Amino acid sequence: MLHEGSCHCGDIAFTVEADFTEGLDCNCSMCRRRGALLAFVPSTAFELKSGKHVGTYSFNTHKLQHHFCTTCGIAPFTEGQAPDGTATRAINLRCVPDVDLDSLKIVKWDGASH
Ligand SMILES: [Zn+2]
Repeated sequence: MLHEGSCHCGDIAFTVEADFTEGLDCNCSMCRRRGALLAFVPSTAFELKSGKHVGTYSFNTHKLQHHFCTTCGIAPFTEGQAPDGTATRAINLRCVPDVDLDSLKIVKWDGASH
C-alpha cells in the first residue's frame, strides 16, 4: 500500500510503499528523546517528494543519517544501510497519518545496547 508522509509543516514530504504492521520503539539516546515509532523499508520503496529544508544529524558510528525539517523540527525519516549493505530508510510512522498507530504491534528495540 502506498502511504504519504510528511513533517509537520510539509516542507519534507514523501511516499512509501509498504504494509506496516509493526513499529519499532527504540530506546537509544536519540529515539528515547524524539519518541519515534520506526519501520525500516528498502530505499526503493521510498520517494522523497519535497525536501526543502532538510537538516541531517548523525551520531555515534554515523552510519545513520537522521533527517529532520529545519522549519518545524520534526524528524520523519532516517537513511541507512541494512547489514547486507542495501540502502534502507527508517520511516517514523508517527509522520504517516494514514497508519493507525493503535493497530501496530510495538516491538521494543534495545538500541541503547547496540
Ligand atoms: Zn517541517
